[in-house]
Amino acid sequence: MLTATAYATSGPKAAFEKTTIERRDLGPRDVLIDIAYAGICHSDIHTARSEWGQTRYPLVPGHEIAGVVAAIGAEVTRHAVGDRVGVGCLVDSCRECDNCRAGEEQYCQNGATGTYGSIGKDGRPTDGGYSTSIVVVEDFVLRIPDGIGLDVAAPLLCAGITTYSPLRHWNAGPGRRVAVVGLGGLGHMGVKIAHALGAHVTMITTSPGKASDAKSLGADEVLISTDQAAMKAASKTFDLLMNTVSERLPAKSRP
Ligand SMILES: [Zn+2]
Ligand SMILES: [Zn+2]
Repeated sequence: MLTATAYATSGPKAAFEKTTIERRDLGPRDVLIDIAYAGICHSDIHTARSEWGQTRYPLVPGHEIAGVVAAIGAEVTRHAVGDRVGVGCLVDSCRECDNCRAGEEQYCQNGATGTYGSIGKDGRPTDGGYSTSIVVVEDFVLRIPDGIGLDVAAPLLCAGITTYSPLRHWNAGPGRRVAVVGLGGLGHMGVKIAHALGAHVTMITTSPGKASDAKSLGADEVLISTDQAAMKAASKTFDLLMNTVSERLPAKSRP
């Protein structure tokens, strides 16, 4: 077994503590990655607090992983030592079911393996990116282009793809009017990506103080959702609305 230094939590209210974890020995198609950065996704927090069903502890979260390949198995063809790579929310799937064959491994009919909090094919719990290294089969390791820093690439592995995927699916681009609701971890990605795809972007927020940030990230317009007249005027003017707000506002503060 390889070992890695990691941060783990032992229960829903426990603090993270530095510990040592084991990584499996390199199989023929495995890649060993020295982790440089791991983003903190809100899913990590939900899971650490056992808010999404019973969490298996100790838990090492982290599924926005960026680093450098340190070693490869004998049959690895997609990556080489020294490559800059990333790992997102999945580290394995059956690759044989209809969904896997269609490139939808997240819907694997035999159960995809999450980067942390899952049981891997070796029968051991998976540990995520809050650690110094990880071993992942090459199919679930992505190449990071040279032009992007590993620190800023890491959050793209979950927050980035979460917003990129619907924007692409619904054809955000030139001539399309896209509104992004909420300027948080996901919303700011949504604004940047929709802008980069060439769409006309409106940021919808309750917070007037976020307007200048929204514009510097690429929003063409900012709509304050507590302004009922402005909201009414904007009715039916968008081709696509992307809602990144996770909670409903209390009734009294709903516009
Ligand atoms: Zn995530
Ligand atoms: Zn499958």
